Amino acid sequence: MKEGRHEVLAACLLVVMTVVGGNVVEAEKALKVFISIDMEGVTGVANWEDVERDGKDYPIFREIMTREANAAVEGAAAAGAREIWVRDSHGTGRNILPEMLDRRAILVREWSGGPKSMMEGIDESFDAAIFVGYHAKAGTPNSLLEHTSSGKVTDFSVNGMSMPEAGYNALIAGLYGVPVVFVAGDLTLCEQITALLGDIETVAVKHGIGAAEVSPHPEVTREMINAGVEKALLRLGDFKPYRLDTPYTLVVKLKDEEMVQKGSHYPGVTRTGEWELTFTSDDFLEIMKAFSYVRR
Ligand SMILES: [Zn+2]
Repeated sequence: MKEGRHEVLAACLLVVMTVVGGNVVEAEKALKVFISIDMEGVTGVANWEDVERDGKDYPIFREIMTREANAAVEGAAAAGAREIWVRDSHGTGRNILPEMLDRRAILVREWSGGPKSMMEGIDESFDAAIFVGYHAKAGTPNSLLEHTSSGKVTDFSVNGMSMPEAGYNALIAGLYGVPVVFVAGDLTLCEQITALLGDIETVAVKHGIGAAEVSPHPEVTREMINAGVEKALLRLGDFKPYRLDTPYTLVVKLKDEEMVQKGSHYPGVTRTGEWELTFTSDDFLEIMKAFSYVRR
């Protein structure tokens, strides 16, 4: 073991203060990391065909997606993480190639039907959340495959803050006291998430010129992800869970009249505009349940 490596490991073991018999005891807790990986924001993806199962090039991009997950897993492991979950968050939830995934990772596939959705599996036992392959919110110019959830949603906001999927997923992590420390994906997504969460580590693997994609070689972006994740986890103490004041007020704008009509029948949802539905709750998972009903 190299000296530098030893220091890194030492820096990453979290110190937990426990009171035993009236005495404060310090115990080391192994770092546990949750990685949610989407596909539209993966290096090279430029068209919906690239991320849909019947697309000719889908097999290529699911492999790049798996390798980007591995880059994040390697970065987390280098920073001392001892348990690393990878949540496959795109489309069917069955994109990552399990055999190719780094063996240190635990994989979450398919949809549970529950409100955590792209964050399925997260709970208070995790120390940090990481998003890879993420994309900008619906309506963002010069970004690749920008959308919010279903493609029929034109805007998602909570308490007046319009946000991408990364924003509401950060709020889900925040419910369990878990900070988002690193995000990789489209440049515009990196800008949007930094505006919401502040100074987290980001890696823009690509940017758009209109609908054209510009990116370095996938091997280069993997190195950037690996280094960025390690750097973020080494300054874990700088990050705070993302939280907003309760009650949460969700405003969803849709571009389909039938969906607005249907959504307005969900208990507690009111139609507040021609294309707009509003729902208020103190429980963010109730917000996500209402959203999963109205978005499709
Ligand atoms: Zn996706």
